[in-house]
Amino acid sequence: MSRRSAPDLLAAGALALAVAISGHAAAPEPGAEVRQEVVRHIEAARAAAGADHAFIFGQLCATPIRAVNAAPGTGEVPAALPTIDPQRTWYAEPVRVFDDLYFLGQTAFSVWGLRTSEGIILVDAIFDYSVEAEVIEGLRKLGIDPKEIRYVIISHAHADHSGGAGILQQHGARVVMSEADWKLYEQGNDKVKAKRDIVATDGYEIKLGGKTVRVHLTPGHTHGTVSTLLPVQDNGVQHMAALWGGTLFNFRGTPDDPLDARLRTYAESAARFRGIAAAAGADILLSNHTAYDGSTVKLPALARRKPGEKHPYVIGKDTVQRYFKVAEECAIAARVAAPSGPPAPPRAGGPGAQPAAPPARP
Ligand SMILES: [Zn+2]
Repeated sequence: MSRRSAPDLLAAGALALAVAISGHAAAPEPGAEVRQEVVRHIEAARAAAGADHAFIFGQLCATPIRAVNAAPGTGEVPAALPTIDPQRTWYAEPVRVFDDLYFLGQTAFSVWGLRTSEGIILVDAIFDYSVEAEVIEGLRKLGIDPKEIRYVIISHAHADHSGGAGILQQHGARVVMSEADWKLYEQGNDKVKAKRDIVATDGYEIKLGGKTVRVHLTPGHTHGTVSTLLPVQDNGVQHMAALWGGTLFNFRGTPDDPLDARLRTYAESAARFRGIAAAAGADILLSNHTAYDGSTVKLPALARRKPGEKHPYVIGKDTVQRYFKVAEECAIAARVAAPSGPPAPPRAGGPGAQPAAPPARP
């Protein structure tokens, strides 16, 4: 719990209670109740974030924070790993992160590879321009034959995660996506396009070399975003990683695809996957963006790790749980704060609600 959030929460709660009790007296201005609800969810997210997830709190709650003039998020992490190749500013070195888990991504986007005795399961394919250098050559650099790649799970069909899927399929990988995101992928114009392969349903499992990777449907960021559970080992000690497949609310409402429903779905997915991660004992949080899971800090920390020291990615079950709480609460705050969000009283001051305009303050 952050220290600052507790008084804010109390104040918000007291005000909401006062409004509820007073009934007819001092009727709140239009939007005041909405504002209180937005503040309540922002502060719940801030409290869940603490120092561990302050960066993702600032990202996910940015819009509702602006809408109600709440205190901004304070956490900053580097947006990307440092550039090491001036010719290819996106290039990052491959890293063995756990006994059996490899980072094969670029400076800002991640590919995770779980190695088993029967082959490698990848999560994500990054871009078409980078997948050969990072994944295929990256494995070779680590002394691993890229022919070991058996599966690539695509977290969602945006080009920063699916762009290399066709190339990996050419290298022999089975490509796994949800039905909804196969459809989204098939609408794209990738030069090397993966043919439709495995359609992941909720709870789909890949069992390989005695390890089981499980995929869950967590719609929100896209309609077919999937999140993944990966069992990993650190010096022979078993851990479980939960990989959140789609993070930002970078969608706009359309009549066919209203913002309110998307954010509601996102919040439900975050709450549900939080439970799934808890049941699986997840004590590691992974993302497909190097900033979102703190890889931009954790990978350098791992390089400095001395024998016997704590693994920077093993953050503990409670801290993993709080990440999904931040995602859920910010999605709710964003939904309530959105012009189309409930209860959406008509805004004073003229027609045409402005998306960035804050609700009236009490
Ligand atoms: Zn995306």
